[in-house]
Amino acid sequence: MNDIIVAKFGGSSLANAKQFRKVKSIVLSDERRQFIVPSAPGKRYDKDYKITDLFYLCHAHVQQGISFDYVFGIISDRYKEIVTELSIDFNIEFYLQEVKNKIKNGASADYTASRGEYLNGLILADFLGFNFIDAADLILFDKYGCFDSEATKCAIEKKLNNTEKAVIPGFYGVMPNKEIKTFSRGGSDITGSIIARDVQASLYENWTDVSGFLMADPRIVENPKPIENITYKELRELAYMGATVLHEEAIFPAREGKIPINIKNTNSPQDKGTIIINDENAEENLYTITGIAGRKDFTVIAVEKAFMNAEIGFGRRLLSVLEAYGVSFEHMPSGIDTMSVVVNDSQLDNKLDKILDGIKRQCNPDTIHVIPNMALIATVGRGMARTVGVSQKIFTALAKNKVNIRMIDQGSSEMNIIIGVQAEDFEKAINAIYNVF
Ligand code: ADP
Ligand code: ASP
Ligand code: MG
Repeated sequence: MNDIIVAKFGGSSLANAKQFRKVKSIVLSDERRQFIVPSAPGKRYDKDYKITDLFYLCHAHVQQGISFDYVFGIISDRYKEIVTELSIDFNIEFYLQEVKNKIKNGASADYTASRGEYLNGLILADFLGFNFIDAADLILFDKYGCFDSEATKCAIEKKLNNTEKAVIPGFYGVMPNKEIKTFSRGGSDITGSIIARDVQASLYENWTDVSGFLMADPRIVENPKPIENITYKELRELAYMGATVLHEEAIFPAREGKIPINIKNTNSPQDKGTIIINDENAEENLYTITGIAGRKDFTVIAVEKAFMNAEIGFGRRLLSVLEAYGVSFEHMPSGIDTMSVVVNDSQLDNKLDKILDGIKRQCNPDTIHVIPNMALIATVGRGMARTVGVSQKIFTALAKNKVNIRMIDQGSSEMNIIIGVQAEDFEKAINAIYNVF
């Protein structure tokens, strides 16, 4: 372990000059903050645009042969305003022109989108007086576009070992043919986690606009309690199920390197935030549950057949149909004579009818029915296994609020109870569960 902090600042933390100043004062208040990973400027207010979205739009316009001057103008103005208001002597015009030319000449979507972080990184480095190191020199993908962990590790060790302080833009890296490749949306979290692992940092700070992980999505529940500490496993479950504070893939590098993650609020740096800790040395959780998260847009295919449990290969045949259509599933709760598969709608496209036909042919069920518009809600907590009556509490709370439960699945880890409700009951159900705990 080195006494180094890697600090990632999200889009809202760097949305304008005022936010840049907050970031500077945070970074400079601790000598250990050595490697800084910025996102592209995010929203300044609710209806504002994210720079990354605007860059994707530029690319789409070029593809359709439409002028992207207007959209690029909005992007340019945002960056120029930041530079002017920070009163730094930085030639942003030069870089904007370079980027604009590349986009005009047909640069890829990944290249175009990555410029949000690239330009922001250049400005931040200048403002902080830090080196700028391009993520394209550190974060490496293979020729298939998969992240190359080993090669990245070598590059980071070589380059960052003798670098004092640096800003490294998040979200992207490079493929062997020098093409820029991005992670999926929100991917600056992943960049920070990788760098923290490879410099063996003592801490990975993820600075955002909330004081840590909250027990539920603050857009659904009013003033949810902050979570003081959470294990990687719990976080993984919650992130996957829609608690988007931290990109779900950002957990793995930090966990591998045993680097604790601290989620902090740029707008309220004195708050402790949430510490994400190793699964083994997690202390007892005072509360039974750690958090609640959920996602909409699922379909359940429920199959019923008498004596299904005695029929060898039933489950395999059912899943082989999904496999044949290249569809993955999220959950598969089953009873004695029933088996359901829960599938994300994005997987289904127009394949549902064909899948149903396939299941009828392969499994010959008594009945098969489809429940569309399902939302899944995960109640997660490492304390759950030891506590009696957690599911009872959830079900009673939902019944009291007249929410009809369409599906129940308890993960084998006993850390997670997943229920399915109709999409229109989603917010009501989350509030009901939150309130009862
Ligand atoms: P950044 O731009 O800093 O990466 P994100 O927008 O990706 O920030 O993530 C922070 C946002 O995540 C919060 O503003 C909040 O709206 C949302 N969010 C969803 N679920 C939760 C939760 N359980 N706790 C805290 N924030 C949550
Ligand atoms: N700017 C990118 C996005 O909007 C990456 C990130 O913010 O982490 O998805
Ligand atoms: Mg984010």
